[in-house]
Amino acid sequence: MSSKPRVKPTSVPQVLQLSTPDGIREYQTRYIAAKRTHEVDCDLCGMSVTAGTAGNSDYRLGLHRTSCLLAQAKEQSKQARLAARQQAQAPLIPSAPQEESSDTGLETPGATTPRPSSPIEKQSLSCYLDELEDKKGCPGIGVKWTTGSVWGDYPYILHENPDIGWEPISFDSQTNTIYFRSDRCKGSSQGNSTKACQPCKQLPSSVTFANVQERAKEVKSHTNLRYLTSRQKDALIAKLLRQVEIMRTQLNNTKKSNKRNNTQISDFKRIIALIASEEVAGLRRILEQALARGSSPRKVLVILERTLRKLYRVRGGFNERELDISFLVKAIGGPKLLYALQKALGLTSVSTIRRRHRVPKLLPSLATPTSEEVHANIQAFFCPDIKPPPKFPNCSELPGNVMMFDGVALEGRPRYCPDRDAILGLCREHSSRMGPIDWKVSSVIQGQ
Ligand SMILES: [Zn+2]
Ligand SMILES: [Zn+2]
Ligand SMILES: [Zn+2]
Repeated sequence: MSSKPRVKPTSVPQVLQLSTPDGIREYQTRYIAAKRTHEVDCDLCGMSVTAGTAGNSDYRLGLHRTSCLLAQAKEQSKQARLAARQQAQAPLIPSAPQEESSDTGLETPGATTPRPSSPIEKQSLSCYLDELEDKKGCPGIGVKWTTGSVWGDYPYILHENPDIGWEPISFDSQTNTIYFRSDRCKGSSQGNSTKACQPCKQLPSSVTFANVQERAKEVKSHTNLRYLTSRQKDALIAKLLRQVEIMRTQLNNTKKSNKRNNTQISDFKRIIALIASEEVAGLRRILEQALARGSSPRKVLVILERTLRKLYRVRGGFNERELDISFLVKAIGGPKLLYALQKALGLTSVSTIRRRHRVPKLLPSLATPTSEEVHANIQAFFCPDIKPPPKFPNCSELPGNVMMFDGVALEGRPRYCPDRDAILGLCREHSSRMGPIDWKVSSVIQGQ
């Protein structure tokens, strides 16, 4: 019955081989010229069966022989039942003729090649066929599959496990019914062959079957994939695909942000390397202004590099400390030193010091200090414009001041005071006879 290579038609008789339950059997074909085909005789019933134009086709012979075997087995079981009934009715009749008759049941009259088979072989074959025939008799139990379609909502993969206990045998998609047969099916031997046997009938009310139905209706999240129906698997796959899509998007976003972060980190590293190796004038002010603008690390790096190449100079943004240091540099070292340090370290310019740093002026008294002079000096040093008071939270009043003097240096040398147009520094004891007005420079010049 398996596919054989095509052979050319021939009229020469051939030897045809057929595999049977008893082994390979050989048949001699004969060519029928009128039909232009070969024929062989069945070894069980002697009927002629077509064997193809080349005499090598065993398909029809195989079919015929199987039906022959079934018919024989049926006949045999009928004989056996008959004999049993006769035996029950007439127990005194000797049983030998019955055995003979049951034996002759297999010996079909007209067989051209009598089959030489042992009694044991006959018995096993008939048992097998009996079983086959019996099971064929039970139509199985039809269950209306209310869960859904008989094709999509039944977990067919369950039957990979042979212990499940039943199997679907046929389907009626119009009434949405599946016919099941229990593994313990007894067939029609019990009686009416059109009705299901007892094990088949009990199948729908079994716990395992009810569980399968329940799972087909509603699946739990922890249910084994093996128990899912095709439709439930489809739904699961669709859900998983949606999750995959979401996770793929998240992964792409993460990859992008990761790339961005890596670039930023490498920019920060380059900034640190630059600061460590080069002296950037006004670094604090550059970073402060970049932060205020929200510049990226890459932008800050570009600004720093341009500053080093004298292509960019940061403007303004000095804090009190820088102003104080610049003022001290100018006061102690002079404007030229301030200019040099302005270029080298980013200190303020002389003009900025003049504009921003107001220096309080102490007016020396020409004679005995008057209260006006004292007030003017206090005003000059502690006026909030000159010296802004320290800020205390939750306090609207100004804090007090403490004045302390220590190590006042005296320089025994007169000095001209441009604010008063007067000479300062004369000995009070020896010049007490002269009025302070007389010592004003203008009066001296006028006096000359
Ligand atoms: Zn036959
Ligand atoms: Zn059954
Ligand atoms: Zn003196």
